[in-house]
Amino acid sequence: MIQIKLVNIDFEYDIQSLTKAFFPKEEVTFETQEIATQVLEVSYEQRQIGISFIKDGIPILTKTDMVPIEERKVKKNVLKRLLYHVLMEVTGRTLQWGTLTGIRPTKLAMEKLENGENLRQIEQFMYEQYLCSKEKTDLCMDIVTREHAILEEIDYKNGYSIYIGIPFCPSTCLYCSFASYSVQKFAHLVDDYLDALCKEIAYAKNACPSKRLTTVYLGGGTPTTLNEQQLERLLKRIKEEFDFTYVREFTVEAGRPDSITREKLRILKKYGVSRISINPQTMKQETLDLIGRKHTVEQIRDTFVMAREEGHENINMDIIIGIPGECPDDVAETLRQIDQLSPDSLTVHTLAIKRAANLNIYKEKYQGLVAKDVVGMLQLCFDYTKKAQYHPYYLYRQKNMAENLENIGYAKDGKEGIYNILIMEEKQTILALGAGASSKFVFPDGYRIERAENVKSVTDYIARVDEMIARKEKVLSDNADELR
Ligand code: SF4
Repeated sequence: MIQIKLVNIDFEYDIQSLTKAFFPKEEVTFETQEIATQVLEVSYEQRQIGISFIKDGIPILTKTDMVPIEERKVKKNVLKRLLYHVLMEVTGRTLQWGTLTGIRPTKLAMEKLENGENLRQIEQFMYEQYLCSKEKTDLCMDIVTREHAILEEIDYKNGYSIYIGIPFCPSTCLYCSFASYSVQKFAHLVDDYLDALCKEIAYAKNACPSKRLTTVYLGGGTPTTLNEQQLERLLKRIKEEFDFTYVREFTVEAGRPDSITREKLRILKKYGVSRISINPQTMKQETLDLIGRKHTVEQIRDTFVMAREEGHENINMDIIIGIPGECPDDVAETLRQIDQLSPDSLTVHTLAIKRAANLNIYKEKYQGLVAKDVVGMLQLCFDYTKKAQYHPYYLYRQKNMAENLENIGYAKDGKEGIYNILIMEEKQTILALGAGASSKFVFPDGYRIERAENVKSVTDYIARVDEMIARKEKVLSDNADELR
């Protein structure tokens, strides 16, 4: 355990996240009943930041630095760099993302690119300001350049997107932290849920009258957990209510192969769905069984082939690196099998274990199962995608990710998920409908962002859908000139 003590300074979140990144297995806390053997003391006085790492009551390293101007952002960056150097010396480790602990490292670079800075200037900024490694800086620049080119073709400033969440799944994955209900147990709620959702859809169609709809994303959960009638009812309603004239992409996360039928794939096609996901996570049966996916590797292959037969020309596959028990050979085999299918895009996630996930709740049970060489496994994915002519086009990070790494979306030319770029770079308003969905309102200056959250529980959502609508309406009507 590491206890953090702050004297005359805040930035609790940044200090805790960076310390946790250096000590992933330790509890990092501000308050403790016990006497902590490791203490990190951060103080601030007369523009001087001091950081000491104390072990068993003895300071083993102390560093100080001056804050040149009393400005919050400047102070934060000086503090994080100093903390990084202290922790690097104490642990003997470096972090590839340097002091960056946020989930959108590309956003910083994108802002600079949009302000006319050249790639060299941005690279230098990423290194000097955030101590970001050359490898990650290069990756960032590659992605930002591609995103920038894609965004230039889209009238995103005058547009908005819609997210619709279906929080039902065939079973619960071990690492899941989303709003997800087992459809076996909660089948009796699905029709009422769709009724409530249709109410939100009816509201959303007129919510931003002077904006054009850019993308629609149906996620979850697993939308294809809906039965064929329910899926058709929902898609028909979406197509009837929204104006699709300018829609660039209509995505449905089919996700779990055990939820997909030929008829559902036909329904998706019939209503103009232009991009789907069929997510293996791994092609190792033992791992699928361990993580509770309740489908076979063969089902993944069969479903993919079926989707192609039904004319789906933009299929994404998700895989996860760092699942307990997996090693580089397993990932190499997963990639070999995926290569035979040749999806249009491949999203490589690094496992992030969230508090609510069963993998965390029952962590003792899985303690012996560690993923070996997460960095090496990600490198395999990087090398494979390069060879197979996929390019990285979006990136984000999460808290508690294995090795403090990242998720990367790779795609073949022209098959990038536009919604993914819009949401990650926070480029336009996304109205989010359904239980657990979080709407994000992006103001014209591109900096100010407001949110409106929907309740997570399906029963609460059904009972309180009018309130969810009112939450969105409040933000929109309070800022009508800028947002509508
Ligand atoms: S498919 Fe996704 S949402 Fe459903 S249980 Fe698994 S991780 Fe959770």
